[in-house]
Amino acid sequence: MTPTLAEAAVVSIMVAWYIIRYRYARRSRRTPIARSARGPRETVLLLISLSGLGFVPLIYVATGFPAFADYPFQPALAWLGLVFAIAALVVFRLTHKALGRNWSISLEVRENHQLITAGVYRHVRHPMYTAFWLWAVAQALLLPNWIAGFAGIIGFGTLYFGRIAREEQMMLDSFGDEYRAYMQRTYCIIPYVY
Ligand code: SAH
Repeated sequence: MTPTLAEAAVVSIMVAWYIIRYRYARRSRRTPIARSARGPRETVLLLISLSGLGFVPLIYVATGFPAFADYPFQPALAWLGLVFAIAALVVFRLTHKALGRNWSISLEVRENHQLITAGVYRHVRHPMYTAFWLWAVAQALLLPNWIAGFAGIIGFGTLYFGRIAREEQMMLDSFGDEYRAYMQRTYCIIPYVY
């Protein structure tokens, strides 16, 4: 593994992510929204996450900025990063397949929204966020730069911790006891751990 290949891997995650979600984004746009918890706060959180996983690493790959935060490249870390990146994309694809037209980039419940509790949603109730955490860790392992590498963890972490309670409240408001029972028998993002 070389620094250039590691950078190519980081850009590949972004491209693959876009390709995977594209179909679902189109389909879900056609499904009317019944309840929305979207607002300025959500938009800001999404932008912070997009910067950390997108703009900051892209600028680093394109220009090398901020070079002062570089540290020596470790091939073993980068290989591990590649494993995390592949895992992120596999989980990401599975969550999109499972959610289907119930998917949304933000906090929205659609008309005839179905609560999905099978497949990747069986043991963990936020597997798509698991995928984003895997991606953020992959970025940190692949880019030997304290700022560009860790921007994903900071950016997605801000979205995750700023959103999760509101998302669960929205699901409770929509699905009531069904979601409460689902919460009781599942983990948040890591099976059997958290
Ligand atoms: N938090 C989930 C989904 C993220 S996408 C995950 O990490 O996998 C966000 C949208 O998914 C929300 O607007 C919500 O309406 C929907 N959603 C979240 N959990 C769901 C579930 N178990 N079944 C159906 N839709 C769900």
